[in-house]
Amino acid sequence: MKKYNFNAGPSILPREVIEQTAAACLDFDNSGLSLMEISHRAKNFQPVVDEAEALMKELLDIPEGYKVLFLGGGASLEFCMVPYNFLEKKAAYLNTGVWATKAMKEAKLFGEVVEIASSADKNFTYIPKNYTIPTDADYLHITSNNTIYGTEIRYDIDSPVPLIADMSSDFLSRPIDVSKYAMIYGGAQKNLAMAGVTFVIVKEDALGKVSRQIPTMLDYRTHVKKGSMFNTPPVVPIYSALMNLRYIKAHGGVVAMDKLAKQRAEIVYGEIDRNKLFVGTAEEDSRSLMNLTFVLKPEYQDLQDEFLAFATEKGMVGVKGHRDVGGFRASCYNAMSIEGCEALVACMKEFEAKH
Ligand SMILES: *Cc1c(COP(=O)(O)O)cnc(C)c1O
Repeated sequence: MKKYNFNAGPSILPREVIEQTAAACLDFDNSGLSLMEISHRAKNFQPVVDEAEALMKELLDIPEGYKVLFLGGGASLEFCMVPYNFLEKKAAYLNTGVWATKAMKEAKLFGEVVEIASSADKNFTYIPKNYTIPTDADYLHITSNNTIYGTEIRYDIDSPVPLIADMSSDFLSRPIDVSKYAMIYGGAQKNLAMAGVTFVIVKEDALGKVSRQIPTMLDYRTHVKKGSMFNTPPVVPIYSALMNLRYIKAHGGVVAMDKLAKQRAEIVYGEIDRNKLFVGTAEEDSRSLMNLTFVLKPEYQDLQDEFLAFATEKGMVGVKGHRDVGGFRASCYNAMSIEGCEALVACMKEFEAKH
């Protein structure tokens, strides 16, 4: 039976990206060697990094003065690297969930952290709107998509101070105005590539403004200077990122990805709102187009396990919600097809008819 992968992360990738990466793991660039066993400094690997960087710049229309990096450590290491490199005295954070909270925790090790707004009062079911960004903050940190709660800031906010965004789970799902950000980062495993690589887009002249000493590996300038090659980068994950960047380009770029995301969301949220059994968890104007969260209405709560079993039997993978929200979550990243969303809707309809 056909499986539809709604996992939140690591998550769905286009089949051809997986096949091309697998092929390179057997024989990279007709060299007779596996991608796993070549030097990252091999003549035929440097073009992989170069093309990945160039494609990222092309797809997101990244202006001059920005560098694209491919690092290890995951988004979680960025939670510490960001304040290490940018926080001199005070930083502003918008608290929209677990990941934002984790980022704040690290920043507190380096200076004053101002939580400019939080949606913790309603279990992070909305994106706060009325907040003041302190103009004396070294930067403002936001989480553009809250993978767990299904909320998203699907626009580029205006910030009077350098804006830094964790875009782990909605990167490359829409056009962004990179010039509004000092830095954008994220773990690749939600919408870019297989797990193991972290992407960073950083404005070069935003670096070097803090007075503290920064350990070499944690200093963005090290990686800017060495083009992500200071030490051995995650070779196979970077290759998979390149394959996906090529895929995105061939399929209409981020404008097409945005259009698809809207179509998918219309189909799935449409059913969540129509179906008598379910209700969405996020406030409507804060709904994520990437992670669509919903629960059973109070009067149908006892159907939780039954729906999960039913959906699994129909080929839906990974629709169980995060334990902090409960219920269900359909993660619809770039590679999720309209057909997959329609299959989920059919499954919800059939389950409704049974009850
Ligand atoms: C998954 C996720 C992270 C953590 O990423 P790691 O690469 O596992 O450290 C951080 N932020 C967001 C928004 C995420 O979805």
